[in-house]
Amino acid sequence: MIKAIRGMRDLLPPETSRWQWVEQVAREVFGLYGYREIRLPLLERTELFARSIGADTDIVGKEMYSFPDRKGDSLTLRPEATASVLRAVLEKGLDKGAGVKKLYTLGPMFRYERPQKGRYRQFYQINCEAFGVDAPELDAEVILLLLDILARLKLSETRLLINSLGCPECQVKFKAALGLFLISREGLCEDCQRRRETNPLRVLDCKSVHCKEILKDAPVIRDYLCPDCAAHFARVLALLKHFGVAYEEQPRLVRGLDYYSRTAFEVVATGLGAQDAVAGGGRYNGLSQELGGPILPAIGFAIGEDRLLEVLPRDLGQGNEFKVFLAALGEPARDKAFGLLQELRRCNVAAEMDLEGRSLKAQMTLADRFGALYTVILGDRELETGEAMVRRMAEGSQERVALQDLTTLLAARARE
Ligand code: ATP
Ligand code: MG
Repeated sequence: MIKAIRGMRDLLPPETSRWQWVEQVAREVFGLYGYREIRLPLLERTELFARSIGADTDIVGKEMYSFPDRKGDSLTLRPEATASVLRAVLEKGLDKGAGVKKLYTLGPMFRYERPQKGRYRQFYQINCEAFGVDAPELDAEVILLLLDILARLKLSETRLLINSLGCPECQVKFKAALGLFLISREGLCEDCQRRRETNPLRVLDCKSVHCKEILKDAPVIRDYLCPDCAAHFARVLALLKHFGVAYEEQPRLVRGLDYYSRTAFEVVATGLGAQDAVAGGGRYNGLSQELGGPILPAIGFAIGEDRLLEVLPRDLGQGNEFKVFLAALGEPARDKAFGLLQELRRCNVAAEMDLEGRSLKAQMTLADRFGALYTVILGDRELETGEAMVRRMAEGSQERVALQDLTTLLAARARE
């Protein structure tokens, strides 16, 4: 038997109802904040990610699914959405015009990581990207939007971690200070020994406990922010405070991609173990120019949908749907039932019947499995009298209903 690829899951019903519900809530909230959907290809030129995410990041260094196409061009299954969104924005001129441009997108991302709980090779994100405005108000609004989605999903027990990464000027000074600090430290992991020379900021994102310990005394970027960046960050925090948002300043938060500047944040959820980040985001004012575009301030976030669904209550989004099962015995009754089936569906009542001529007992078992609220029983006698037996499955109570009233009655009850 052919099996699915390691780290790539099948999402099965009824679990998929929960996914649909999460996505529906997210779409509604995006709508309220003025965002519109963009749908993008899953494949891009490898160069797009190498240039945007940064060559010395884990993603580009070892996690990308890259391969040559039949012509020999190197393509990559997208490991994240921001680079693709910005590529489309620049290519289609969506950045033109005044004011903020707001886009969201949902879908799968691919990273060759070690599969474990909360970490898959195909995983799903809900992405938010806003372009064109550098005001701290937008940073606050984007964070409020993220928290709004999570709150409507009834996700409690979260922490918002926030930091400022400054602008390129702050980063040059900070990287020099950090590099100087790291140069004298013994015992950094192999990756970090390399990174301290190529890209010292990345050392701050190292997952090794040992490196983390060493970094406890490292300089923090907050002390290197220029007056503009410091004022921007102070205003973001003041706005969050104004809206009663509890945040934790995390001076060593850098995130796994090179393109961030100024505000960077993460939402972690308790109950997820080691993979506890459900969402991450920040400003990426420099990315447009990095990709050959104009100056284009931007900010966004990505919610990790797989992890989100792991912490949300099991029973959410699985509403008790109104469903009807038609149990029919004998050919004429089955013909009648088949007609009723379509009539009920036309009136927005979910209905099902047996198509294989099973016994009444077997059909009642099917009705249970279908989760029917009502089962309509039809046989020769019911056709003669023109009345069907309608059984309420939960109580087992039965009533006789005239066949011609059946659809109207059930449709009315479904609306109640
Ligand atoms: P982590 O530090 O956990 O690897 P990251 O910094 O690589 O996360 P981002 O690139 O910021 O993650 O992606 C945003 C969100 O996407 C993460 O917070 C997480 O919820 C989710 N995510 C990232 N990688 C995976 C994965 N391999 N499987 C499932 N979810 C993931
Ligand atoms: Mg990662």
